[in-house]
Formats: sequence, C-alpha cells, structure tokens
Amino acid sequence: MSNIFKIAVLPGDGIGPEVMKQAIKVLEKIQKYIKKKIIIDTYYIGGSAINKFDDPLPKITLNGCEKSDAILLGSVGGPEWDYLPLNKRPEKGSLLKLRKYFNLFVNLRPSFCYKNLSILSPLKEKILNKGFNIICIRELIGGIYFGLNGRKGNGKNEYAFDTETYSRFEIERIAHIAFNIALKRKKKICSIDKANVLQTSILWREVVTEISKKYKSVKLQHMYIDNAVMQLIKNPSQFDVILCPNLFGDIISDQCAVITGSIGNLPSASFNQNYFGLYEPAGGSAPDIAGKNIANPIAQILSLAMLIKFSLKEEKIYIKIKNAIQKILNLGYRTKDLSINNSKEKIVTTDDIGTLIIESI
Ligand code: NAD
Repeated sequence: MSNIFKIAVLPGDGIGPEVMKQAIKVLEKIQKYIKKKIIIDTYYIGGSAINKFDDPLPKITLNGCEKSDAILLGSVGGPEWDYLPLNKRPEKGSLLKLRKYFNLFVNLRPSFCYKNLSILSPLKEKILNKGFNIICIRELIGGIYFGLNGRKGNGKNEYAFDTETYSRFEIERIAHIAFNIALKRKKKICSIDKANVLQTSILWREVVTEISKKYKSVKLQHMYIDNAVMQLIKNPSQFDVILCPNLFGDIISDQCAVITGSIGNLPSASFNQNYFGLYEPAGGSAPDIAGKNIANPIAQILSLAMLIKFSLKEEKIYIKIKNAIQKILNLGYRTKDLSINNSKEKIVTTDDIGTLIIESI
C-alpha cells in the first residue's frame, strides 16, 4: 500500500479560496501526526475555471481529481456567472457533474451546536437544551436534480419541466448506508418523503421499509417533508439520523444548519461505493462577504477533518482538530457571523481564526 495520500484541492469561488487557505494551514500543521505523506494539488473549478478555461469543470481538474485519493472542495458560484445557461453555471456545470462523475451518491451532513454558540440559534433555548445532534443522509446523484428537464413552447404556452426519477437500486444503496450509520448512533432513522402525493416517494417509502427488515434493532419512522420541516423547529431532539431523497435533503440539511446558528460551521462529506470521498462546507461561496477576510473557515477546516477521519482513517486527529476549534470558541474568538455583540467575545479575521486553530492543535 502506498505511503502517499493525494488530495485534489479545489478552492473555487467567493470565500472558497480564503477559507481553503486556513484548511491548508491546518493540514500543514497536522502532517507530522499522520502516518501517510500528504501531497496536495490545486485545481480550478466553478466560476474561476470558467474565467480561465471557459469551462466550470475543465479536463485538467477532472484528471487531477481522478488521480487523487480524496477531494477537498471550497465552494462555487457567484453573480458574475448567473447570466450563463444553467448547464454552464458553476453549480450545475461543475458541482453536480463532479458528483455524478465520481458516483458520489451518499452525502453526510452532521449538524450539532457548539457549546457557547447555542445562543446563535434562532430556536428558543428551552427547545435546543433538549439536544441537537443530527446527521442528515442525502441521496446525492438521483431524483429531480438529475432527471429530464427543459423548456418548451412559447408565448403564453411556454412551459418548463423537471422530472423526478428514483430506481429501487438507488434507494436501496442509500438506505443501507443510513441503517449502518444508525447502528453506530441512537439506532433510529427518520426517512423523509412526500408519499401522499409523489410516486417516487411511494417507492422510496416501500424500499426503505423493506431494507429496514434487515436492521431489526433500528427503529424506522417515515415523515412527510412538510411535517418534517415543522417538527425540526418544534422538537429537533426527536431526530438522530434523517434519510432523504436529493431535493428534500437539500432543504432539510440547510434547515439543520441554520438551527446550529451559522452555516459557516458545518462540513459535509460525499462518497461513492468505494468510499472515495469529496469533502466541502455546507454553505455556498458567500459572494456578499468574499474578499473581506471575514468569512468563517470552520466549515472548511471541519471538512478537512472529516477527510482525515473517513479517507485517511485517522480518527484521533479528527478529534484533535474538533477540540482545537472548541477551545478557541471557549476563549471567545469569533468570526463576524458568530458574533452576538457580547463584550466577552473577540471578533477576528478569517486568517486569524485559522492561525488560532492551528496554535491550539
Ligand atoms: P451562501 O451559503 O453562499 O450564503 C448564504 C449566507 O450565509 C450569506 O449571508 C453568507 O454570507 C453566509 N455564509 C455562508 N458561508 C459563510 C461562512 N463560511 N462564513 C460566514 N458567512 C457565511 O448561499 P447563497 O447566498 O444562496 O449562494 C451564493 C452562491 O453560492 C450562489 O452562486 C450559489 O449558487 C452558490 N452555492 C454554492 C454551493 C457550493 O459550492 N456547494 C452551495 C450553495 C450555494
């Protein structure tokens, strides 16, 4: 087995390069604790790749990712590229393509509240105090985001369509992943659908129920998406593992993010059947704050931490990084998005918080 581990680093657009710089600082610091020698190669993606190569996912980037053992992504997109046709825009033209190319059908988004930061949550303390620690498991390369779509007709008869398709096989493989994760947590899953209206949801519910018979110790509950978004606000502590089709997972995972207080804190990981992984922050490229050195790099640093845990299998170092983040938060250091204008907090820049984290590792 090779002693070298290659990471394709794709900083992307907006705040992507700023927060990625902090993750790389962390990587340099922890190299000495890791058994393998890590080599990073940086590639263009998204809007920055359109500007350089007229392609949001150039061949050189795809080849670089293919030669790597894992991908660390920043974020893509911004108003500069919003005028382009959908397929050439950064999100559809690079992110969705990359997910499909590597068959990354599993997306994991853990959401939890850091001690001291629960005050940032829009939820009342008495609700949050009951506990908030959820993992959202989203099917990532099927459903309506990848179905047949288009626009036809003209004038008053012009219409647009997006098609949702799910096969039994696609539902089975993501359900197995969810049940296996539930076995290592509280042994309960809530599967989200809209089976009172949609055919794809009826199949989703049937297949998830069938798979559950192989995992008798896991308690399965089904919930309609409209009820789930209400229940998450009313009583989030009832959830542990949430299993979702692509579209509902996109919505629910952002809702989980906002409950924690800031999307700038949350990482995500996507995998294929061989556990090849792509790791990226839950949020987007935040063009409103890009270039100001005020973005929160925690989500990017935690995405690196997840890479270290899942792709490098170095769980102790993952914990080291998480603890370092908690330590600097305990000391009152905050990026602007985490501020509540409290006299005890110290507002610092993106660069400063990256440096503080590496000093605490
Ligand atoms: P966004 O997540 O970029 O921003 C939403 C809000 O959260 C903004 O106020 C932003 O300042 C804030 N925010 C996000 N990350 C932050 C961080 N790390 N630190 C501090 N504040 C942070 O979502 P949006 O505004 O809907 O989209 C902006 C662009 O990002 C669009 O072009 C969109 O297509 C793209 N996008 C990309 C991804 C991705 O690359 N995975 C995901 C979502 C959106």
